[in-house]
Amino acid sequence: CQASTDTHDTSFRKDDLPVHGVSEVIVGVLGGGQLGRMLCQAASEMAIKVIVLDPLTNCPASAIAYDHMVGSFDDSATVQEFAKRCGVLTVEIEHVDAATMEKLEQQGVDCQPKASTIRIIQDKYLQKVHFSRHGIPLPDFMQIDDLEGAKRAGDLFGYPLMLKSKRLAYDGRGNAVAKSEGELSSAVNGEMFTTEAQLLREFALGGFDRGLYVEKWTPFVKELAVIVARGRDNSISCYPAVETIHKYDIESCRENICDVVKAPADIPWKIRKLATDAAHKAVSSLEGAGVFAVELFLTKDGQILLNEVAPRPHNSGHHTIESCYTSQFEQHLRAVLGLPLGDPSMKTPAAIMYNLLGEDEGEPGFHLAHQLIGRALNIQGASVHWYDKPEMRKQRKMGHITIAGPSMGIVEAQLKSMLKEEGSESQ
Ligand code: ATP
Ligand code: MG
Ligand code: MG
Repeated sequence: CQASTDTHDTSFRKDDLPVHGVSEVIVGVLGGGQLGRMLCQAASEMAIKVIVLDPLTNCPASAIAYDHMVGSFDDSATVQEFAKRCGVLTVEIEHVDAATMEKLEQQGVDCQPKASTIRIIQDKYLQKVHFSRHGIPLPDFMQIDDLEGAKRAGDLFGYPLMLKSKRLAYDGRGNAVAKSEGELSSAVNGEMFTTEAQLLREFALGGFDRGLYVEKWTPFVKELAVIVARGRDNSISCYPAVETIHKYDIESCRENICDVVKAPADIPWKIRKLATDAAHKAVSSLEGAGVFAVELFLTKDGQILLNEVAPRPHNSGHHTIESCYTSQFEQHLRAVLGLPLGDPSMKTPAAIMYNLLGEDEGEPGFHLAHQLIGRALNIQGASVHWYDKPEMRKQRKMGHITIAGPSMGIVEAQLKSMLKEEGSESQ
């Protein structure tokens, strides 16, 4: 691997040599986080060259990518420069410069998925409008421009009321819950979002100017996700539906960050079909190739409602590395390159994925994570993934552990024994 440099132009390796992998096309990825890293890992097995664009010199993908251009994926000139070096341009994050991608497409650059898809998805309100127009069931929603509008939404949808930023949201950062009309103002201004000063500055809803909308509160019984792959020939292939369990955040009194994924989800076949059909329909309404993650709510009366779609590999699909014939990362590469889609079915009866979230800042946080990794190494069927992020922060996704095994009962028991405090009584 070529080392990254600090400058924008990284004197890219010139590819004069013929490539003898499964594809000669160089895949460019906007973003070099953990998803970019795992794309590079899958690519290296097939001798596919992946180059990444990320502002961090030591981003998770940098050590594994064929090359790393240091620069912002949100800066037009940088993205255009990067695109010159790619046969196909894709993303590992939706918060990229969609206008530049549109311009590049007009110039003939091959973007997968299409810029139109990124534009719709990166604005969660626009996304909701798009999917409701396509007849996909989702929670009621409406745009809010001021406090009066928020109160009208509260009168209409009731409380608790979910307020969301239209843009730049992830891991629940950009959501706030108002339990009553009296809490609307503080929810909008971010005061109830989190007590962590840094997060508060970065991710508080930050007033109406930022662009907000509300969603009717959905008292779901389970959250599900379906990874859908779409080939360049528009063929569609769905992974088995999984259950995602989000961590309860004591400060905001709600679930926000993905904690555990159970594959397959324990749901009746009828629900499985409803979820898969909704996911299939949602992805069919978007343009371009790649894998997409469709997040869904299952309500107690057996309804499936769409939460949101990600136009890229997703946390809910990490288990596929060990538990499916074709991982979501390999599938994404196959899709954007126009190769045949692989088999999304599970090759192990059950898998459970546990996110290694930062529990403390800095060294103490690293120490705690490594203690857990040490325990995982002794668990049968467990695979450790560490993203090698340069900084440890609370609630940050630092790695994950997947345990694959012969039944959900067994992998759950393995996870439990891994998480059990050392020295505590065995059950
Ligand atoms: P991601 O990291 O998945 O991109 P995000 O920041 O875009 O997350 P959402 O997916 O909108 O956030 O919401 C995060 C979580 O908040 C959901 O997974 C769900 O647990 C909860 N949630 C979201 N919308 C609602 C709703 N309308 N009613 C109840 N809970 C909700
Ligand atoms: Mg999201
Ligand atoms: Mg989400």
